[in-house]
Amino acid sequence: MATREDILVELGLTPTWRRRDAGAAPAGDVASGLLEPVATQPRAPREPGSRIAPVPAVAQDATARAARIAALSWDDFASDVDACSACGLCKTRNRSVPGVGDVSAEWLFVGEAPGAEEDARGEPFVGQAGRLLDNMLAALSLARGRNVYIANVLKCRPPNNRTPEPSESAACRPYLERQVELIRPKLIVALGKSAASQLLGTDATIASLRGRVHRYRGVPLIVTYHPAYLLRNLPDKAKAWEDMLLARRTLATSDGSVVAGLPPSA
Ligand code: URA
Repeated sequence: MATREDILVELGLTPTWRRRDAGAAPAGDVASGLLEPVATQPRAPREPGSRIAPVPAVAQDATARAARIAALSWDDFASDVDACSACGLCKTRNRSVPGVGDVSAEWLFVGEAPGAEEDARGEPFVGQAGRLLDNMLAALSLARGRNVYIANVLKCRPPNNRTPEPSESAACRPYLERQVELIRPKLIVALGKSAASQLLGTDATIASLRGRVHRYRGVPLIVTYHPAYLLRNLPDKAKAWEDMLLARRTLATSDGSVVAGLPPSA
């Protein structure tokens, strides 16, 4: 069993690591954010002879928008995100952050939302949490753009890095769905609570979701801690590394069927 020191060396963190004050970290990056799945209203049975209410124009617009996004090609994807005004974040963002990487990647990493640096550069995970993610990728002999695609639940930065509102995640969801369809990854890694909640439709904690293989539309999905959370919670880095090893083992099997609870192996 690897020691904590071994794992930190593997992640390339030992020389630069220092514990940060939780208060100094951006709130929107907190892996234990409280995003709840968007509630769907149960449909009441229709009275015989009653009329079907007309679909409101807003709902029609949303349906048409979702259908348009579902048909986007990569050529049009980024410009469509850039022109999006489906939620209020378009008013405060500097740049939209559609995603980055190999569009035929086997690995898809999904985070929460752009932070300040991402908003300035238009690329996900380029701040401190991104450097940790890059180290984790390197420890797996991966790199952004090489068999890896990185996306977020939200394509625009929430002000002050606050946790995404359910309505914002719902408005952005067609884009993430389209990315998964276009990339057709063999494995998805949900980084933190927002990504896990969106992709799995659950409000469960990361602690209860990690360590086993989930599915998003048939694609094996591993849940792990958000890199920004790991920057503030040193002991959980070892668990995140175990999650990465589970992800690698899952990808190595043709059907993604790894038996949960197997001891981690490198
Ligand atoms: N945190 C995220 O979830 N995504 C980013 O792109 C940056 C920080």
